[in-house]
Amino acid sequence: MKSNGLNRRDFLKAAVASGAVLVAGGALAGCAPSGGGNAGGSGDATGAENLVGVTPVSFEDETDVLILGTGIAGLSAAMDPVEAGHKVMLVDKLDRVGGESFIACGVMNVSGSKIQKAAGIEGDPEEKWQKYLPVLEKKGETDDMDYKHNVYVYQTEWADRVADDYGAKFQPLEAYKDTGAPTSMLLPEHGIGDMTTVLSPLQKGLEQKGATFKLNLRATNFIVDAAGDPVGVRFNDEKNGRSKDIKAKKIIVATGGFSCNQEMVSMYVPSQQRLGPLTVNSMGEGHQMCKALGGSYMHMDMEANLMSDLAQVTVWGYFGPNVQVTPQGKRFIKEDQSHDSPTACYEGGFGYWWTIFDNQLMTGSQAWNVEMNMKNNADRLVGPCETLDDLAAAMAVPADALKETFAKHDAAVDAGEDTEFGKKLFLTKLSAPFYAMKHFPYRYKTHGGMKITTDSQLTDKDGNPIANVYCCGSTVADSGSDLSPNAASGLISGKAVVEALKA
Ligand SMILES: Cc1cc2nc3c(=O)[nH]c(=O)nc-3n(C[C@H](O)[C@H](O)[C@H](O)COP(=O)(O)OP(=O)(O)OC[C@H]3O[C@@H](n4cnc5c(N)ncnc54)[C@H](O)[C@@H]3O)c2cc1C
Repeated sequence: MKSNGLNRRDFLKAAVASGAVLVAGGALAGCAPSGGGNAGGSGDATGAENLVGVTPVSFEDETDVLILGTGIAGLSAAMDPVEAGHKVMLVDKLDRVGGESFIACGVMNVSGSKIQKAAGIEGDPEEKWQKYLPVLEKKGETDDMDYKHNVYVYQTEWADRVADDYGAKFQPLEAYKDTGAPTSMLLPEHGIGDMTTVLSPLQKGLEQKGATFKLNLRATNFIVDAAGDPVGVRFNDEKNGRSKDIKAKKIIVATGGFSCNQEMVSMYVPSQQRLGPLTVNSMGEGHQMCKALGGSYMHMDMEANLMSDLAQVTVWGYFGPNVQVTPQGKRFIKEDQSHDSPTACYEGGFGYWWTIFDNQLMTGSQAWNVEMNMKNNADRLVGPCETLDDLAAAMAVPADALKETFAKHDAAVDAGEDTEFGKKLFLTKLSAPFYAMKHFPYRYKTHGGMKITTDSQLTDKDGNPIANVYCCGSTVADSGSDLSPNAASGLISGKAVVEALKA
């Protein structure tokens, strides 16, 4: 095989074992005419032996760039190819666009974007990168610093382009820049939990520029030519169970992580196997397809941080005051962070924890989200409570413990320093009426992914590029598995296929 270093015989053996679908002789005209629907069938008109459930390849559609997955990485990967005039098709197994990205809290760490500059917040991504680099080097988890650098600095380009050229809406920094909240964080228009105001305009803009979206199609296999080079993808039509084959010059895999795949989590991140997944979408299907093609996994055992099942409540601490306590009413963590709370809850074996808040969060910059969560999660909400005794009774925690927690917290506020836990942002007293929300720790993302080149082309284990296939977002170990870095990794793949299509 010319592109990944395997010899042809090895490749054919691997292809059959893995379910890669071969185009005979690479001659598309020679493909069998079946369009699929042979879910349980065997044999074909030629009388040749056949695998049950595998229909011969028959391309029904064709495109320059085929993007698997319509989360933030897939959508962002489409920007450069579509702007360069290429035919771009984005396909998703779900009946909606946006993936996990659509339901994310919406915290995007960016520096030096136009939105920030307009609000008087200066910042230069290259300078920030220079400060971040030693941290990364010390961690030793990054394989390709050039790729990581591009992921880092393209976040700013992404924020500027989606706002200027696609009409994505971000919350004006004025809403929170003087409250003590971090100005390195961009949020969607109405704040936490409003990713539709970023992703829907991006989708619409891509469509207006000529991209097409196809939903309810689950990618199952790469289709390779006789040389073993990928030339398309087989999909299962989730509505009727028929297979559909799409031919493409370049394929970008943006199918997200594997946090919902119990088998993969148990195998690679066993420390998280007993936690539930927040959704059922991130099944690692792109990972498995790439591996079947000769791709190689990287850092599959790298643990991602955890999340609350009330994900958006987890990030309130960046934007307003709250106090978090165990089921015993004891404070256990600084509140001006997000993922440390579920991690501490899980590792400490509490089972669940509470976020206690008051009118300050309800009328602050994230009022829209606080109200939405209080309404949508009424079964997790207690309050309003006029006293700490009432609150403790409603939460079923010992009143003495809760009152002691508040006495210590208020003393820290008076002292201007939280010596016990180190909270810096919103070190402020709460006052009645009090409210509290109960949450449980879940897993929600993964870091492990495919080995790629600096321009995001899939490689085999030795680093040899595999023709025509690029990976981005949470399918890649070095993407960071967060919204803005995944968007930036999408840009990297998009730029790479534009370059490759010039050749
Ligand atoms: C509840 C929650 C809150 C979060 N909050 C934040 C936050 O505030 N900030 C932050 O930075 N990150 C957050 N994250 C993480 C962030 O959402 C992810 O890192 C990011 O969305 C992943 O982007 P992606 O494009 O790689 O994958 P996704 O957005 O998951 O998109 C992958 C897409 O591929 C599709 N797909 C999968 N398999 C196939 C297949 N076989 N065929 C066709 N399509 C397929 C999926 O349906 C999906 O649409 C959050 C995650 C969750 C779950």
